[in-house]
Formats: sequence, C-alpha cells, structure tokens
Amino acid sequence: MSAGAGAGTGRTVHSIVNNLVDDPFGRGYGGAMSESAAVATPDPRAIVLNVQGYSIHDGPGIRTTVFLKGCPLRCLWCHNPESQRQAPEVAFDPERPDAPGSVMGRERSASELFEEVAADAPFYAQSGGGVTLSGGEPLAQPAFAAELLRRCHEAGIHTVLDTCGHAQWSVAKRVLAHVDLVLLDFKHMDPDAHRRLTGVDNRRILDNARRIHHELGLPMHARVPVIPGFNDSADNLDATARFIAEELAPTVPVCLNAYHRLGAGKYERLGRAAEFLALEPPDDAHMLWARSRFEALGLAAVIGEYPAAVADPSSTGETCS
Ligand code: SF4
Repeated sequence: MSAGAGAGTGRTVHSIVNNLVDDPFGRGYGGAMSESAAVATPDPRAIVLNVQGYSIHDGPGIRTTVFLKGCPLRCLWCHNPESQRQAPEVAFDPERPDAPGSVMGRERSASELFEEVAADAPFYAQSGGGVTLSGGEPLAQPAFAAELLRRCHEAGIHTVLDTCGHAQWSVAKRVLAHVDLVLLDFKHMDPDAHRRLTGVDNRRILDNARRIHHELGLPMHARVPVIPGFNDSADNLDATARFIAEELAPTVPVCLNAYHRLGAGKYERLGRAAEFLALEPPDDAHMLWARSRFEALGLAAVIGEYPAAVADPSSTGETCS
C-alpha cells in the first residue's frame, strides 16, 4: 500500500494512535454498519487508505480503485491489516525502530475524491473501465461511498463495489443504488465457522447476496478465498458452489483467490505481529481441484484476481468479467 507519508512520529505515538482506534472483537470495529452511520451530509468524509490508479484487477477495463479504511470483519488470513481499523494508524519499519513511521489513512471528502478519480475518465471510456470502491469494507463508511459513487454515475463513470457484504440491508442498498457491478466475498458457508474465521457469522452476508441478485438484479462476481485447512474442504467448496449456482444463478462468475503470505510483514509494522495466520499457500493442483468443485455445478470459475481481459460474463469460463 502506498497510503500515507512519513509522519516524523515515534514508537510512543505508534502505541497511542494504534491502540486508540476502534476495535471490534476486543480488538476492532465490529458490527454491521448502522443506519446512523449512513446519514447524508452534502459532502461526506471518510478515512481513505489509498487511491490506486491504472488498476486492472478490480473490475473491467482500466480503473481507479479507492481503498477505504475500516472493516467489520477480522479474517484470520487478512493480508491487508492496515485496512481494518477505521482510523489512521502509524506503521514502522521493524529494521529501523527509531525511524519515523508512516501514517496509514487520512480523512478525505467525497468531492475531493471524485475530482481525483474523474481526472482519468478518458482512460475509463477507452478501456471500458471506471472506479472501484474497495477496502477494508466500503460499506462501513456508507454516506461517503454512496456520494462518491453517485457522482461517478452522474459523470457516466462505471462503478464497482468490492465488498464483504456485512452491512445492514437498508444501508447497503443506498450505496448499491449507484453501483454497476458487485464483487462479493464468500469466505465460509457455515455460520459458526464463518464467525470463528472472521468474527461475524455469514447470515447477513448471504441474505444481502440474495437481495443484491434478486431484488436489485445487479451483476455480481463471487470471490472465494481458498484458505488451506480453514475453508477448502470439499464440503465447504461444494456448499459455496451450490449457494452461488442455486440461490443466486449459475451465470455468476467465480474467482478463486489462493491464500498467500504477502501481508505477514504488515502486522509487524503495525505492532500486531502475532495476529497473522501463517499457513502454507495452496499449490496449483489444489487450486485446480478447488476450481473443479465449482465447475461441476456449471459455474464459470477462474483462479486468481479479476482478469484484465473483458468479456461477456455469460459467454466464457475463463474470465470473471
Ligand atoms: S473482509 Fe477483507 S479487509 Fe476485512 S478483515 Fe477480511 S480480508 Fe481483511
């Protein structure tokens, strides 16, 4: 992540700042976003972690991805811990403990962000791209999310919401009113296992998935993280495939994302070294086997992030676009 600049701060500030932020399960911000958090203001503000231009993995075409800071989940494998807490944090280089830290995240307004993302509108138009709102969890700051995406729509810019799906429906649908495509995570199908792995059960997420598909009729791509020993059993993969194929539609594309360890060092830099779930990443054969569980139900499944190539979602099994 490139968010933040050198702040000239030290270890003391690190401890104070990073321990004062909201923290749900004894450690972070937890519940699904409430109605009060979605109260409209003319130019809502949010804690923004990063703005990434020329992205090709978060939706069709060339995109700008806006990463908001704050997430109601605490997935054991999360490789972006800097995106979890809905407040700025200070990260330090463990090799240089006395060096100034970097502040991760800062408050920005929807109008300010819109000006920034709209500057690349010609690239979106040429490539069939647009703006993706990601995180963290973008629905955790719904007033900002809705306003930024509304402004994008007003300007004719395609919008994608990359979400874990854990939000009150009444709040989520205000944001979804300005969304063209939803990327939704399916982490585990058993509510208790989901709670153990992420801090929340999955009932609200699955209910929102149904409503996004059936009530709003929004295009959706399912994202499934493959976490060895945690959600990659045949039973769970099959249950996930059944939910997507039978309770949503067999035309919903599926992206399988292999667990990796790239985020491990971030925990240490944030002073949370012990929290990362260190596992052996799944090998290619295992990922191909996992993909076959989805293909067996007629789903178009790919391994990896959203491909750069854009195609008709109903026409191919080789892309999530
Ligand atoms: S939903 Fe995403 S950002 Fe939130 S804790 Fe899980 S992996 Fe991390």
